[in-house]
Amino acid sequence: MSEKPASFSKGEAARKTKKLENTTMNRSRKFDFLIIGGGPGGTPATMALGSAGKRVLLVNAGPGLGGTCLFEGYIPSKIFWETSRRLQDIRDAAAFGINIPEGTVTPDWSVVIARKKAILTGRSEGALQTVRKLPGVDVVMGRAMLLGPRRARVAPASGEEPFEVEFGQAVLATGSAPHLPPLPGIDLPQVLTSEGMLEIDHIPESLAVIGGGPIGMEMAHIFHGLGSRVHVLEMAPRILGPIDEELAIAMEEISRRKGIELSTSVNVTGLEESGDRITAAYTEEDGSTHSLSSERVLAVTGRRPVVDGLGLENTSVRHDHGGIVVDENLETGEPGIFAVGDAAGVPMFAHWATAQGLALARHLLGQPVSFPTPSVNTDVIFTIPEVGIAGLTKAEAEREGLEVEEAKYPYKIDGRAQISGHAEGMLKFVFEPPMGRIVGVHILSEGAGDLLGEAALIVRKGMTVREVASSIHPHPTWNESFGILARSIMASST
Ligand SMILES: Cc1cc2nc3c(=O)[nH]c(=O)nc-3n(C[C@H](O)[C@H](O)[C@H](O)COP(=O)(O)OP(=O)(O)OC[C@H]3O[C@@H](n4cnc5c(N)ncnc54)[C@H](O)[C@@H]3O)c2cc1C
Repeated sequence: MSEKPASFSKGEAARKTKKLENTTMNRSRKFDFLIIGGGPGGTPATMALGSAGKRVLLVNAGPGLGGTCLFEGYIPSKIFWETSRRLQDIRDAAAFGINIPEGTVTPDWSVVIARKKAILTGRSEGALQTVRKLPGVDVVMGRAMLLGPRRARVAPASGEEPFEVEFGQAVLATGSAPHLPPLPGIDLPQVLTSEGMLEIDHIPESLAVIGGGPIGMEMAHIFHGLGSRVHVLEMAPRILGPIDEELAIAMEEISRRKGIELSTSVNVTGLEESGDRITAAYTEEDGSTHSLSSERVLAVTGRRPVVDGLGLENTSVRHDHGGIVVDENLETGEPGIFAVGDAAGVPMFAHWATAQGLALARHLLGQPVSFPTPSVNTDVIFTIPEVGIAGLTKAEAEREGLEVEEAKYPYKIDGRAQISGHAEGMLKFVFEPPMGRIVGVHILSEGAGDLLGEAALIVRKGMTVREVASSIHPHPTWNESFGILARSIMASST
């Protein structure tokens, strides 16, 4: 590792944002819509309502527009992922006939951090500039608190006097924050949340990850690829929560083969400082106790919706530990106040928040709309290789009363996968037999995230095995596997 990197400064992004902030705040302070939160849920809703000529006030407490997604979530984590993935490819170069002298390929963290900073700042400014072009939209960087069903108090981050606004309808898009277990030692400085991990100024020599969910496994693969020794401690009997069991088990095998240590069915009981290191104490299912020493602990044990300080008590908006309670139109218990994205609970994805935000904007504009449903949602877990999911697992489909079967295609026999040197993982369809509607597509492979485009269309449009089989998929590509699997289902059904 080279010299100490210039760390990404949220303050810098905030200063730039302030320059761009709309200073022509409407003096009447009456708006058709108040949007609280400028992440992937609130920002697209603002743009859609503003584009339709509505008077909209967007208040966002973050360092710039973009929310968790841009500053503390998927964009920075995928910037680290990109470096880690490329590094692993370069280290495997000899298998492709490319000789690189040993020890010459090392990550330069200062460059990674500078790259992250440039992308985040650029994207945040770009979003703000787009919003500002809409004449009816005002943006205030600061905090909003509901004072009643139609009134809110806005406290600008600039330090200017707080002021009150009136609104016709409001959208709560305040996102989520890390939820930490009440463990002894959880406050120690060596313990990081995903936010802290994405701000880290060096690659730790060793990392204990508490939580083998999507974020924990992503970080485990990223930092293992960058050179950290990684050990994941997961309470459940298997990693990655409710995803297809066969894919989860395959991912466990791949992770262990790479050298990531994985302990499942364990209970972390406490954390203790030991010099400049930290020790995690945990028990296994059989009652045996263990300790794990590492340079840093990453605690990724779930996320909780952000509702603190939002003034919900001044309204009839209700929330529980899962999030703000909404009906099928995303309306809360307070008529005219709606919630989208992480604030409204699971699923917590940027694309889900955007789909909800855009659907809600149509609803608020009186346009025909169908709100997104989890049964056609997509999900990518950026491990290396990735896991991609569209629609339902077999178990989920059966719980919904569907009669389904599953079929799979292993990538070890696939031409494109063999050429790429990543002939591992599988493609799986969950479908109505004998060759009917495909209700779920599950992928474990290099590039699974990009393969999900086709999977999303298949599931959303309710395409059948026959229709996918009759589409001409180009050879030799990863996408071709969709056609091969569909044809093999047809062959075994005739
Ligand atoms: C490490 C990590 C990796 C992730 N990777 C992915 C991924 O690969 N793909 C994916 O789809 N999703 C990913 N996610 C999830 C994704 O980031 C979230 O689902 C998404 O950001 C939710 O969008 P949102 O608009 O609901 O909320 P957020 O993005 O959290 O935005 C909410 C905004 O509201 C602001 N706010 C809160 N309270 C107030 C208030 N009182 N007044 C004004 N503003 C307020 C916040 O400051 C924030 O700017 C990841 C998350 C994490 C943590």
